[in-house]
Amino acid sequence: MVRNVFDSVASKYDLMNDAMSLGIHRLWKDDFVSSLKPGRRGPMKCIDVAGGTGDIALRILDYARETYADRETSVAVVDINGQMLKEGYRRFKKTMYHNTPQVSFHEGNAQELSKETFPDNTFDLYTIAFGIRNCTSIPMVLQEAHRVLKPGGTFACLEFSKVTNPLLGSLYDQYSFSVIPLLGTILAGDRESYQYLVESIRRFPSQPEFARMIQDAGFSTGGLFEGKGGAWRDLWGGVACIHTGVKL
Ligand code: SAM
Repeated sequence: MVRNVFDSVASKYDLMNDAMSLGIHRLWKDDFVSSLKPGRRGPMKCIDVAGGTGDIALRILDYARETYADRETSVAVVDINGQMLKEGYRRFKKTMYHNTPQVSFHEGNAQELSKETFPDNTFDLYTIAFGIRNCTSIPMVLQEAHRVLKPGGTFACLEFSKVTNPLLGSLYDQYSFSVIPLLGTILAGDRESYQYLVESIRRFPSQPEFARMIQDAGFSTGGLFEGKGGAWRDLWGGVACIHTGVKL
């Protein structure tokens, strides 16, 4: 079902993201990637799962190059949906990373990554942005993340989360239950897919519940954000949230 949802939104995905979040998803993604500082300790092997049209991959490569003059960090973009990957490939064609070992695209399921393409203990950084809530089994995704990361490697997730402030929460509920499906109808002619996206946000575990799941998968959480010891960092009062873990 998720494959069909993203099939139908692929060509409009970037436009809709901007429209629904008023462009704020770009700020969150910038924040997410810069807090991970890819390239700081030298070139990194990264995997961006549920990578869609390559928003996170592009930011990782740009950040490493612009901040550390690093042209060796690489990102494998994995997504279950071929249409989303196709959009990503098309987009990367216009960049300096096209046809270099810095980026590759792979169709695959986050819950069961190919052992041949992605052997155990391969990556320094695993990212998943706005993708894990669409997966049927979160523990299976975390288990796979743990498998493909090297010991000491970082798991990082950016996802919509739970707003804790009741006033902000009710404004956000009104916005997401009425405005988002309406925008889906007007801009993409597809109310159901956007209704599904809103519902999937509601079903996702709370910040502490998700942090516990990350720990249960064998990650140590906390301490990655400089000066902050938390296992997660809320963005916009919990509208979105960054969770991290380090493979023990
Ligand atoms: N990470 C991108 C971003 O932030 O712009 C894309 C996010 S988009 C909301 C969610 C993506 O998750 C879609 O491209 C969808 O195809 C992908 N997806 C959903 N379930 C998946 C799964 N089980 N394995 C891999 N990708 C999946």
